[in-house]
Amino acid sequence: MMADLNAPLEREIRRIISVAGAMPVSEYMALCLGHPEHGYYMTRDPLGAQGDFTTAPEISQMFGELIGLWSAAAWHHMGKPEAVNLIELGPGRGTMMNDALRAAKVLPGFRNAVKLHLVEISPALQKRQRQSFEGVDVHVTWHESLNDVPDGPCIILANEFFDALPVHQAVRTDGAWHERVIAIDDNDELAFGAAREPLAHFEKFLPPQIRSAPDGSVFEWRNDAAAYEIGRRLARDRGVALIIDYGHERSDIGDTLQAVSGHTYSDPLIGPGLADITAHVDFQALAAATDSIGARVHGPLEQGEFLRRLGIANRANALKANAAHRSEEIDAAVARLTGAGTENMGRLFKVLGLSHGDLKALPGFD
Ligand code: SAH
Repeated sequence: MMADLNAPLEREIRRIISVAGAMPVSEYMALCLGHPEHGYYMTRDPLGAQGDFTTAPEISQMFGELIGLWSAAAWHHMGKPEAVNLIELGPGRGTMMNDALRAAKVLPGFRNAVKLHLVEISPALQKRQRQSFEGVDVHVTWHESLNDVPDGPCIILANEFFDALPVHQAVRTDGAWHERVIAIDDNDELAFGAAREPLAHFEKFLPPQIRSAPDGSVFEWRNDAAAYEIGRRLARDRGVALIIDYGHERSDIGDTLQAVSGHTYSDPLIGPGLADITAHVDFQALAAATDSIGARVHGPLEQGEFLRRLGIANRANALKANAAHRSEEIDAAVARLTGAGTENMGRLFKVLGLSHGDLKALPGFD
């Protein structure tokens, strides 16, 4: 098969493989999402009904509003610092933060303390975010990396950010773990394979139940740099973080790499750069990395449970009281955000709280 001419990135990936050899899954994912010219996030706004996928803040304003009230409550727990960096990682269209800031108006002390920092690598989405914050009376600064955000007391929010960070895969082959790679097969197609040499010293980093998984098992892990940077800031500067994503509470085997385009699943090796590629978040690994650097871990909780604790039922009733004609839509949004079942987010999505070691309790996690 010839390279897909609609996917200029495929030509580039084939070129790299022909020069450097088979490409680790993490490198493939990083190129698909972040290639400066052809990366999926670099060129488009992928969100909403017209786009490829929908997220919790795009489903209902209630989500961002509850996160805003959580942030204000967390600021109280922090001792009401006069200035606080409210940081969002991967803000998409800026919807969650807009809803959060509007809801937080009921606590003017918090609103006045906030300096907003948005961490976004996509020029297309940065542009979209600038439009959405026009007329919002809070100081906003954009950054390409969390490392560039000034130090100081902080509240860090991330919804569906970690799933988009490149994931490594190892595949168990003949009793050893090998990095999973993408090569060009005998039919001249992109295909999964395994690196010839096993990964050195790999097993001792694995949880015991995974070490001796049967042949063919896949184990996924991410670089811990983002988790360490969050943990470092919380532990040093007094801060809190809320990380929300789909994933599993305990590390486990399983291939969760997925491509989504036009709201349906597609083959991750077809049309690189044209579909969103993500993988589930390993919350045990994320918590362990932040804990090891001195942050305190709260939860994780399932998203449904967390939103119920924050009072989503009351929020829905208040909205319905103002807009009776939207009752059905509001009930459907609550079900989608909190319900069980594969169509809903309530159980698949987890919420991890993180804080400075002195903050023993966080709103919603007690
Ligand atoms: N939080 C939003 C958007 C989720 S999509 C929502 O819930 O609707 C993922 C977001 O993370 C996008 O804004 C994407 O451009 C951004 N992103 C992905 N990788 C990133 C990286 N390495 N650094 C900064 N932002 C990134």
